[in-house]
Amino acid sequence: MLRARIVQEDPHALREAVPAPREALERVHPAAYLDFLRAFAERGGGALGEPDMIVNRASFSAAESAAGAALAAVRHACSGDGHAFAAIRPPGHHALAETAMGFCLLANAVIAAREGQQLGRERVLIVDWDVHHGNGTQALVEQDSSIRFVSLHQWPLYPGTGAAAERGVGNVYNLPRPPGLPPERYVADLLEGIDAALAGFRPDLLLISAGYDSMRGDPLGGFTLEPEHYADLVGALRSRCPAAPMVALLEGGYAPELVAEGVLATLKALV
Ligand SMILES: [Zn+2]
Repeated sequence: MLRARIVQEDPHALREAVPAPREALERVHPAAYLDFLRAFAERGGGALGEPDMIVNRASFSAAESAAGAALAAVRHACSGDGHAFAAIRPPGHHALAETAMGFCLLANAVIAAREGQQLGRERVLIVDWDVHHGNGTQALVEQDSSIRFVSLHQWPLYPGTGAAAERGVGNVYNLPRPPGLPPERYVADLLEGIDAALAGFRPDLLLISAGYDSMRGDPLGGFTLEPEHYADLVGALRSRCPAAPMVALLEGGYAPELVAEGVLATLKALV
């Protein structure tokens, strides 16, 4: 549905990505984990760690391609060709270095951040507006002051992490919030977290873990955001960091028609 909507709006906006090279994945994940995942999928897959975390034969190559799209989006944005959106599945923000979680196999946002740093974009800000806490992203960057991570998420909710007291090395900004608040409140609180993260930190690259399970009507989340709120957030980020290339990576979102509307609003604000 998302692809159809993008083609309908602007077919020239779409590019197919190639799978991520192994080297880019190994900046974040141990080789043994990547070998295990590939072999597990090729054997036919099954439930991986969690009962609803189902892997099939195509899952590893889908994850490699998702990470490849994240890399391509970073290269595009960092070469000055404009901001980019990686419309990818599976998502990545729950994946730990050696553990798949929450439908996530590879940590796309961190893989993207490391690619940016390889391209000389030393300081990276990752903003996560998925309704779930980006525990994988946090775990992979919380000891690294070159990356700051801001996450707005419903609390309590899967995966159970993301308390405000989790600060990493002072580079983690968690905003746990209850469901059902007015959307303007979520936007204002996330912007407050972003402003805190930007104090004394000028990012060379902006990454958004763009989950649309934070929309009103998503079956897994209780937040109330509408498409225009994502556009507002992108606009606010652009005005705060006008020189930084921006890349959004699709995370969760479990009502396909809502995801399509949310992504299109984000895209229009981004490009
Ligand atoms: Zn989510």
